[in-house]
Amino acid sequence: MSQPPVNPLLRGVPLLADLPDLDGLRVLVRVDFNVPLGRHEDGSVSIEDDFRIRAALPTLRHLTDGGARVTVMTHLGRPDGKVDEKWSLDPLRGRLDELLPGVTLMENLRFSPGETGNDPAFVDGLVRDQDAYVNDAFGVSHRAHASVVGPPKRLPSAAGYLLERELEVLGSLLAEPARPFVAVVGGAKVADKLGVMHALMDRADALIVGGGMAFTFLAAMGHDVGGSMVDHTRLDDCRELLASGAEIFLPTDIVALEPGASFGPGSTAGEVRTMGVDLPAGWMGLDIGPETVARFAGIIAGAGTVLWNGPMGVFEDARFASGTAGVAGAMAEASGFTVVGGGDSASAVEHLGLASRIDFISTGGGASLELLEFGDLPGLAALRGAPNAPRSTV
Ligand code: AMP
Repeated sequence: MSQPPVNPLLRGVPLLADLPDLDGLRVLVRVDFNVPLGRHEDGSVSIEDDFRIRAALPTLRHLTDGGARVTVMTHLGRPDGKVDEKWSLDPLRGRLDELLPGVTLMENLRFSPGETGNDPAFVDGLVRDQDAYVNDAFGVSHRAHASVVGPPKRLPSAAGYLLERELEVLGSLLAEPARPFVAVVGGAKVADKLGVMHALMDRADALIVGGGMAFTFLAAMGHDVGGSMVDHTRLDDCRELLASGAEIFLPTDIVALEPGASFGPGSTAGEVRTMGVDLPAGWMGLDIGPETVARFAGIIAGAGTVLWNGPMGVFEDARFASGTAGVAGAMAEASGFTVVGGGDSASAVEHLGLASRIDFISTGGGASLELLEFGDLPGLAALRGAPNAPRSTV
């Protein structure tokens, strides 16, 4: 094994070891406890999955074991800058207290418009009576929100273990991925992912495109995609990508639903057919077909590194879930280094019970895409500017 190269993303970012002596230090920690909640008829609220809380424990334990006094802050849901009891952190407070007693949890950051508005007065309130700051919330580090970019300007700061691991893995994809490096991109909106596709084309050896966005590519190639989703404003962008000489793989067969039928969780009505990529009028392509799954799986199997973001079809509807399940299975079987870029693909992998067979599942869908596209994030830039940041020599 050779020594891994110095990771470009971690360069200049202060880590937990760069904090002052922890004993008695008051540390403010930004975490991402935006967990799924269950709301019950009797009005009670439960945490459906406490993974995000457990994931922050190594950083929090490191701090408390060292004698620090820890205050944790997070957002939950979308209370839109107003106090909204629906998004109270009380259920989280109870769970955190069971897992790690003695840690204080602030109220929902998004109860104030100052959080998303990055209001300096709101930052003043956050850092008051604190001695240091830790960011362990990768999933919001692409946002220039007060709790992400404010405190590092005022306090010695550090990336927590979760954030550090994200940077290590995603940085290795930007630096020296084992080749061939295959990127698999799916999901609905081609417009959202054109930027990252451009960035990936420069770095990856092959780009696999599935999901709704594949139909804008197929339409750009002159195929008749029936009633499938097509973004007509992006046809030229797709043509440009296709003409760039990059290796782009698109579906060759499609699972389609008859015109006028509805789809979504629990839908069963309407005829479903597997067909080639030219669809009859009105038929909607909602998943990749079995021939495509086999082809994509073969490419994934031969890869040194695979990055996957976005479902291959409308996986919420069981009739159109096979493509996503097939790619998830191929990722689990792959011998190369496998990374799932958060969001829907991460939940698909988890629901299929395959998470333990993926090398790395990012905790931030949007953040991981922005990091790959721009090579940096506002939250990381803020940490590099912290008073205790190691001075980069490069
Ligand atoms: P995104 O947020 O862009 O990753 O998109 C995720 C959404 O894309 C999921 O809710 C899927 O249902 C949807 N999706 C995937 N494939 C298709 C398709 N062929 N047609 C319509 N929607 C799709």
